[in-house]
Amino acid sequence: MRGKKRGAKKVDEVNDTQQQQQQQQQQSQHRASKRLKSSAKAEEVKMESDIAAAGMPSIRSGRVKNGHNAVQDDDAAESSPASPAAAEEEPCEAKVSSDAQSQSSGGPAAAAADAKKKKKRESKSCAGAQQQQQQQQQQQQRGQQADAARVQGSKYHVGAHISMAGGIENSVKNALNIGGNAFALFVRPKMAWASKAIAEVNVQAFKCAVAQHDYAARVLPHGCYLTNLANPDEEKRRKSYECFVDDLQRCALLGIDRFNFHPGSTVGECSMEEGCASIAQCINRAHEQVKDCPRILLENMAGSGNVIGKSWTELGQVIALVVDKSKVGVCLDLCHAFAAGYDISHAAGFDAMLEELDANVGKEYLQGIHINDSKGALGSHKDRHDNVGAGMLGLYPFWRIMNDLRFQGMPMVLETPGEEGVMHQVWSREVEALYCLSGTLYEDDVRSRSNKTIKAEHEPKGQQASGGWQRARELMRQVQELRLQGAKAEEEKKQRSQANKTLAKAKARAKAKVDVSSSEEDVDVEKEEEKEEDKKRRNVELIGAKKKRAKTAASQRRAAPFAQQTAAEVSTAGESALVENERGAGRKSRGRAL
Ligand SMILES: [Zn+2]
Repeated sequence: MRGKKRGAKKVDEVNDTQQQQQQQQQQSQHRASKRLKSSAKAEEVKMESDIAAAGMPSIRSGRVKNGHNAVQDDDAAESSPASPAAAEEEPCEAKVSSDAQSQSSGGPAAAAADAKKKKKRESKSCAGAQQQQQQQQQQQQRGQQADAARVQGSKYHVGAHISMAGGIENSVKNALNIGGNAFALFVRPKMAWASKAIAEVNVQAFKCAVAQHDYAARVLPHGCYLTNLANPDEEKRRKSYECFVDDLQRCALLGIDRFNFHPGSTVGECSMEEGCASIAQCINRAHEQVKDCPRILLENMAGSGNVIGKSWTELGQVIALVVDKSKVGVCLDLCHAFAAGYDISHAAGFDAMLEELDANVGKEYLQGIHINDSKGALGSHKDRHDNVGAGMLGLYPFWRIMNDLRFQGMPMVLETPGEEGVMHQVWSREVEALYCLSGTLYEDDVRSRSNKTIKAEHEPKGQQASGGWQRARELMRQVQELRLQGAKAEEEKKQRSQANKTLAKAKARAKAKVDVSSSEEDVDVEKEEEKEEDKKRRNVELIGAKKKRAKTAASQRRAAPFAQQTAAEVSTAGESALVENERGAGRKSRGRAL
């Protein structure tokens, strides 16, 4: 019994130990899972806060979700090299499932490696995002007063060609900052043939931001400036075509529905008709090649040299040869039209230009506007943009595009100049000024003028309209002030940089001088040392020579005590010998002579 009890006790002890071990195991597992959960949650919270700090609450959920997917897609892209066009749009859910498949097929080790990679990328992108946020916050602080509230509800979609620096999605933020309802951008380098693919994470962020802020059908990218589809040189045209397709594929990838480009130039080596045919041929090829190809808009040009597009007739020729008419159109640049010879500074001229467009292209093809004043005179063919109301156009065409129903619903973007530090402030004022003109009246007598400013007697009638014009002109005045400030700041910056350069040069010169003088000192010391050495050497030689002379003299004295010592005293042994020889010879010659 006791034995049994002892045995039972032993079993109990064993059971207790097992239970304790199990409990300990469970506790450690629980702690481990808790740690995992909390770290994952911390990461999630960090990301949320990053996004919240970016001031895009509406993009928050989408960005996290898509950011995750994008990383997975990126991993997939590594295994299968693909062109930007190959990365097709696909629903987020589909991506998640395909990601899951790719992870499970790769095994746990591959999944762990992927997770590690993903984490690394996420932390990298977070750091980049934080830096961007700081920059944006600084920008916002600088231009806070200038940032306009976005005009909501207008059917006229005005914006500007803005920067996408730091990531293509930043273009949306920049558009919002200036109060724009549309925007233009470059989707690839504007002056380079080579281009880097847009990262999937940026593509997703851009698409989410565009959808969230209602910019769909209001984005009008501008093509690369190097593209010349009219070039008669086949190799050069092929290169241009590749660049053109790259632009289009990027638009498709970003979900952009239209794209604007400069038609090209004959470069003086083919006829205008041949040039137009080449452009149309390239457009047809691109329509077939690019999946979800955006509508391709040909921009009217100022028409200098051999440039194609100075008239609607030329652009009409291209469009007539395009097969898929639903994927082609035109973009009206106000500055270019004026410089090309269309006097749109008054109603009759503007009407005539539109009639020509209708007749040669068709009004339904007009799908975008570039809002620019012109520094160049009417028909000057100079492509020099100016700020709204500051150039040769006056305010009529700007009032017109904000009050003519045919311009509703299409992206209308500013390509007006401004200094780097005041760019957004300039555009925000121009955007607001244009909205101020919308819904105002324009008197017939004002329409006929082509002066730069609108005089007081030409004020539109009605309090509200008048207020709109006053505000618009005030904003235009502010634009000029800002530009002066911007130019001054740029000049000061230039001077500072010049002064710094001069200072750096002076420092470098002074340093070089010190180096040279110290090396000169070294040289002097060396010379002194050499001199000293020479002196010593000469002394030694002199002493040696003296001793030698004394020795020779002694030997001579011993050999010929009767001989004259005068010459030998000052000459060397050789010289003495020579003297002796000469004496001998003298004696001989004297003997002969005698
Ligand atoms: Zn333009």
